[in-house]
Amino acid sequence: MAGQQVSKDLSLKEVAEVFEKIELISARTQITMLLVNLLKKTPPEVIDKTIYLLQGRLWPDWKGYPELGIGEKMLIKAIALATHTTESMVEQLYKSLGDLGRVVEKLKIEMERKSKKAPSLLAYASIQKELTVNEVYSKLTRIALAQGEGSKDIKLKILAGLLTEASPKEAKFIVRFVEGKLRVGIGEATIMDALAIVYGGGVAARPIVERAYNLRADLGEIAKIIATKGVEAIKNIKPVVGIPIRPMLAERLNDPREILGKVGGEAFVEYKYDGERAQIHKDRDKIIIFSRRLENITRQYPDVVEYARKYIKADEAIVEGEIVAYNPETGELKPFQELMHRKRKHDIHLAIKENPVKVFLFDLLYVDGEDYTLKPLPIRRTKLQEIIEETDVFQIAEYIKTREPEELEKFFLKAIEDGAEGVMVKALHSGAIYQAGTRGWLWIKYKRDYKSEMVDTVDLVVVGAFYGRGRRGGKFGTLLMASYNPEKGVYETVCKVGSGFKDEDLDKMPEILKPYIEERKPFNVVANIEPDVWVRPALVAEIIGAELTLSPLHTCGYGIIKPGTGISIRFPRFIRWRPDKGPEDATTSGELIEMYKRQLKKLSE
Ligand code: ATP
Repeated sequence: MAGQQVSKDLSLKEVAEVFEKIELISARTQITMLLVNLLKKTPPEVIDKTIYLLQGRLWPDWKGYPELGIGEKMLIKAIALATHTTESMVEQLYKSLGDLGRVVEKLKIEMERKSKKAPSLLAYASIQKELTVNEVYSKLTRIALAQGEGSKDIKLKILAGLLTEASPKEAKFIVRFVEGKLRVGIGEATIMDALAIVYGGGVAARPIVERAYNLRADLGEIAKIIATKGVEAIKNIKPVVGIPIRPMLAERLNDPREILGKVGGEAFVEYKYDGERAQIHKDRDKIIIFSRRLENITRQYPDVVEYARKYIKADEAIVEGEIVAYNPETGELKPFQELMHRKRKHDIHLAIKENPVKVFLFDLLYVDGEDYTLKPLPIRRTKLQEIIEETDVFQIAEYIKTREPEELEKFFLKAIEDGAEGVMVKALHSGAIYQAGTRGWLWIKYKRDYKSEMVDTVDLVVVGAFYGRGRRGGKFGTLLMASYNPEKGVYETVCKVGSGFKDEDLDKMPEILKPYIEERKPFNVVANIEPDVWVRPALVAEIIGAELTLSPLHTCGYGIIKPGTGISIRFPRFIRWRPDKGPEDATTSGELIEMYKRQLKKLSE
């Protein structure tokens, strides 16, 4: 009986060991192999929970469930309780070791040592037991779900109990999980590779796993399906209302003729609105809105919920569009930043009045049981038009159909004049499917020229910070920025940015960076520069510069254009934070290499 129980669960020790080993290695292939070994041992019944724990979370973020709600103070208290020490002792150790995970590990090892010497402490050893994934998962869930009065005590009690039962290594894992420090741990790409190897017969099956994940952004659920029903089951996966689909993304170019050539001649050219992307899911009266990062943003937009209920004429549907702030008196569209005002306001009904929005729809992915993602764009658009009752506040994105570069350019200028960022040019041919989760050439964005050699902004990830001098003395004044390299799963530095910040940006910097500051270089950052503090890749900022250059200091695209140099940005300037983007959504090193090549080509013309 007991044996059966164990076979349907996984010992937490196995998971904690993977994390311990990962600290010491950085090669993606080695991490994949560690995961492969772990997943082979994982019973299908707990594979979803195991995957979530590996990702440092309890469920996909888009579920919008509560966070654990454990601050540093409570964590210190729980560690003290579990290791029979005082909070000040824990704090003292924290100061010298700089990491609560290591603190709890050390204290627990100490206890183990003592209990072996002093038989009176033997009772302690008997408290420790073999924790399993199911057990830890359910306790952590109870911590997260404890809300309201008395919840602090409940959270503390469960956590202290868990840490008491854990071995030193497991306790380190649990503490880091609670602190949110595991989030960098294991990327989705690595998990998908491991699933393909274990259940799909090899990495060749990775695209199948990836497509399934793109259609249902829940790796735990995908893992469960492939582990229980096999690879065939995920080949036929369809979108489900309520689970977000990973968004299709566009490549960028700045020459109308070249753009039309790339999409195969004739194209839809649409306004590229400067708002917030919304994936709207409708199941009769129930509406859910997901952001570009697949966060559940339904609560911020009760007005959009109402529009969707009224104007989508289908029982079930998944449509995509851009939510844009506008001025109801003049009809003018307002820039993206205006929407941020709405996010900050607590009284959402006031916000609706003061920051009204419109929705411009541009795609349809699913309707009444039918998957539209594999159908070409013209079919998706016709159906979209069919199921939408257009009104002033809920309408199809402004567009034309053309094959003429001059017409494209004219429409682009009109788009800019109307407050759009530029245009999106979309392929119409029979292969023009909705490529969920992919940045490809079926969609090409053509944005406004920023009047500098570097025609477009880039979105880079903060990986370090330097203290400023003079007026900025003692404050962070410069950030070390990196691009994302999805092939290697690492962040490669591009530039140091110290200008473009307003005083208030600088004032807020310590608060913004604090949760992500690391004692050592994060394992997934590749850098030749040592900043004053390292920052875990999490924060994305939009950066513009004078031009792209080659630099021996930076590691983006290192050695690809010229040996011993990477790609950098001359005179980089901070434009704004991009809270709507995660680090994996940042501009990739590959894109920067392409941008550099295009710049060279332009200069030689
Ligand atoms: P950017 O950084 O330029 O805003 P992105 O990286 O967020 O872009 P891209 O694929 O490069 O994503 O650009 C597409 C974005 O443009 C979409 O995510 C969406 O929010 C927005 N958008 C505005 N209008 C349209 C449209 N008509 N069709 C598709 N996307 C549109």
